Amino acid sequence: MGNSLPTGDLRVGHISGPLGSWGQSAGAVVVPVVVPILGLNGGKAESDYGADVGKDCFQDRHSRGQKGLGKGGAGRFAKVWQEGRMKIAVIGAGVSGLVCARILAGAGHQVVVVEKSRSLGGRCATRKFGEHLVDTGAQYFTLRDEGIRREVEQMAGGQLKKIEKPILSENQIYRAGEERFYLANGNNRLGSLLAEGLDVRRESEAGRVLQEGKRWKVLEEEYDVVISSAPWPQSAALFGMRESEVAFEPNLTACLEYLIPWDGVKYATLDSTGHEPLAWVGCENAKEGRIQGGKSVYAIQSHLRLGRYTPLNHLSA
Ligand SMILES: Cc1cc2nc3c(=O)[nH]c(=O)nc-3n(C[C@H](O)[C@H](O)[C@H](O)COP(=O)(O)OP(=O)(O)OC[C@H]3O[C@@H](n4cnc5c(N)ncnc54)[C@H](O)[C@@H]3O)c2cc1C
Repeated sequence: MGNSLPTGDLRVGHISGPLGSWGQSAGAVVVPVVVPILGLNGGKAESDYGADVGKDCFQDRHSRGQKGLGKGGAGRFAKVWQEGRMKIAVIGAGVSGLVCARILAGAGHQVVVVEKSRSLGGRCATRKFGEHLVDTGAQYFTLRDEGIRREVEQMAGGQLKKIEKPILSENQIYRAGEERFYLANGNNRLGSLLAEGLDVRRESEAGRVLQEGKRWKVLEEEYDVVISSAPWPQSAALFGMRESEVAFEPNLTACLEYLIPWDGVKYATLDSTGHEPLAWVGCENAKEGRIQGGKSVYAIQSHLRLGRYTPLNHLSA
């Protein structure tokens, strides 16, 4: 194959801080052969080849080839992978899987993304709620990294908007001056934007990944490398590993519609103490054009201990 990667090896790493604001959950990447670990917006990971894949990945292919390689982090990672053209399966078309697929495709590999759902974006999720459009997963992006910000601006065009109203936490303005962005047509659109130009197979649920000689089989197709961006318990099952290594907590999200207009004072209330039952109460009216007919709609997220209460886990609305 002409590359310097170890073969037949299975390695595991974890990511955190996915979009740079307050992601509650750790993602996991499991890779036969080598571990590329994703960290959007500079997330750190325990990997031989470094993290910050998201940063380089958002840079256009040409400039990444010129500047990104050899800088360490994703640059070092991309260089290693550029030494041979491999057929790579990426499981999951959430933000981390798609970003990973982009950098690998950009480095010249043949990449197939398999996604079990019809929609793209994973937990960067948006739903139609009656006549309204509500983000039920990632509420906003901070885009602190200049390179990522430029690329998202280019990809999203006029759809990238800023939330102007503040978040309150214990009656103080939370991170005053922090810029917060959303996509006018739904934060899940980030998935479709990242998927452009990639071979993404929707409604394709990968089962147990099996090794055949030096290759790996996903949905009856053979690959040199398989990367899973599915949440840890699912990744563990795919590779026949124990789930218990990383805690993964449930989260309850509910949407409420009120027949009165929003007062326009704040975007959200955040409880960082953990003493309140609700971690987040965000008003989607703060996102232009989302809420119709003079009503107000709130996206509410529980603290983990409430999310753990099983009967409520089925109430995601
Ligand atoms: C309620 C909530 C609010 C949040 N708010 C914010 C926020 O405001 N800001 C922020 O930065 N982050 C936020 N986060 C965190 C952020 O949304 C996630 O961390 C991030 O979207 C995870 O991306 P990912 O690609 O790693 O995983 P995921 O989005 O989970 O993607 C994994 C993908 O793998 C697919 N998959 C799983 N198993 C298989 C299989 N066997 N075969 C094929 N496909 C499979 C899934 O369908 C999914 O599409 C929030 C998360 C939640 C749940």
